[in-house]
Amino acid sequence: MLQVDVASLKRNIGETSCYELQAALPPLEIRGEKVSFWEPVKVSLVVCNTGEGLLARGQITGELQLACDRCLELFHYAFSLPFEETYRPVPGGGEVPSGSGEKDAESVTFSGDILDITPEVLNSIILSLPMKALCKEDCPGLCPRCGSNLKDGQCGCESENIDPRLNVLKDFFSRSKK
Ligand SMILES: [Zn+2]
Ligand SMILES: [Zn+2]
Repeated sequence: MLQVDVASLKRNIGETSCYELQAALPPLEIRGEKVSFWEPVKVSLVVCNTGEGLLARGQITGELQLACDRCLELFHYAFSLPFEETYRPVPGGGEVPSGSGEKDAESVTFSGDILDITPEVLNSIILSLPMKALCKEDCPGLCPRCGSNLKDGQCGCESENIDPRLNVLKDFFSRSKK
C-alpha cells in the first residue's frame, strides 16, 4: 500500500517531507471489470504540514492492462497524473478504525502516524481513464464477420465485397498461390 510515516511531520507546522513510494496494487474495479496493473504504481510525493492539515502533492505513474475497445486485446496503458489531497488529523486525536477516513469536499481525515494515500491514488487513476480505450489510435478492430483481429492482417472476408475492378488482381493472387 502507498503509505507514509508522518509521525514527526504532523507535529511540526511548516515542515515538508518528500517520499518516493511504490506499491503493487490490487486490480481496479472499473464498470464491473477487473483491471490489473502491469507493474507497481509509483508516487513521487511531497507532504507539507500547513498547520491546517497535511497537503500531499505529487505525481502518480504506472501502467494498466486495459482491453482495447475495438480489438479486445490487452495493451499497456501508461499513465502519469498529478495528485493533490489535503489530509486532516481526526479532531481530538481520537483513534478511528482504519479505512473509515471520511472525505468531505476538500480533505480526507486520518488518524495515527501513518498516512495511507492508496484510496485517493486509486480514485485519481480511475477518474483519469479514457471512456474509450484503444490499443492504438487507428486500431482496425475485429472483422465483423469472422471476428479475426484485423491488426494481424486481412482475414479474407473482404474479398466478397471486393471492388470488381480488383478481381483481376484477386485471380492473379489465387493462381500464383497454387
Ligand atoms: Zn485494438
Ligand atoms: Zn473476417
